Amino acid sequence: MDCLDSPGACTTLGGLAPTPEMLCGYGNPSVCAHRLLTIHAHPDDESSKGGGSIARYAAAGIGTVLVCCTGGEAGSILNPALDHPHVKARLPEVRRTELVAATRHLGYQRVWMLGYRDSNMPASGEPGTFAAAPLDETVRALVRLIRTERPHVVVTYSDNQRGYQHPDHLRVHEASVLAYAAAGDPAFHPELGTAWAPQKLYYTVWSRARLMAQHEAFVRLGRQSPFKPERWQRRPSMDHRLTTRIFVGDHWEQVQEALRAHATQIDPQSPYWFGLPPEVARATYPYDDYILAQSAVPAPLPEDDLFAGIVADAVQHGTWRTGP
Ligand SMILES: [Zn+2]
Repeated sequence: MDCLDSPGACTTLGGLAPTPEMLCGYGNPSVCAHRLLTIHAHPDDESSKGGGSIARYAAAGIGTVLVCCTGGEAGSILNPALDHPHVKARLPEVRRTELVAATRHLGYQRVWMLGYRDSNMPASGEPGTFAAAPLDETVRALVRLIRTERPHVVVTYSDNQRGYQHPDHLRVHEASVLAYAAAGDPAFHPELGTAWAPQKLYYTVWSRARLMAQHEAFVRLGRQSPFKPERWQRRPSMDHRLTTRIFVGDHWEQVQEALRAHATQIDPQSPYWFGLPPEVARATYPYDDYILAQSAVPAPLPEDDLFAGIVADAVQHGTWRTGP
């Protein structure tokens, strides 16, 4: 029995493994010939890291699936207008509602909650939190979802997160890389579904170029920049490793709406997020940046498309055959 349909049947993942939950769905990514699956740590990460790419690919008819590993329960309320005890008391529920709204703006077709609790920073170590869970348990949970959704492209966090070392973000990288490799191995826990090998694995990256472009736009306008270049310059730049730049300028409004939907986390008055006039902000750096970490298909670099070289499925009357 598939435990995605029957929550009580998840014993194959181990006694403490949470059951993935389909938070929302707007369509069926399975019928799309190209499919993209992203793995994020908390609600709001999907909007701030590569959200424009989702909007672009969803608009192009590509199946889009999010796996959100935690509910973001440990997050603070970063919007003073909502920083009230009654909001704080309902924060897990509020963040789910925000995630539903944000992913709708971006065009995600399906959203899975992997079922772990936010680990906090530094990690609380409490049972049920993501970073405290056994790594192999999380890998199996991700393998099950990869085999269910059968993405051609998987996006996760990078192997160098020295700029922001949230334990949940570090664990997302660690577990995703292992699950990406294991999903296609028929010998790896066959009870988790038929083996499926995605063709490309990407790391989503906030490039130095992006941060500096935003900073310089503030300076050009004579406004105080919320970006501190000296701080960014102390962090390791990974721009030399970037392989893939996706133009997302046609989907800027959708990303803004998605960010605003995370109202407890993203202050609508924040100069960091919304300090530039819209006409400046949308043109300042209209790209999402990625590192192609693994590819099973020829992929000449640099690229401007996550699906460059991907061999799509052909959909015929609800059945599948492989081949271009
Ligand atoms: Zn996060």
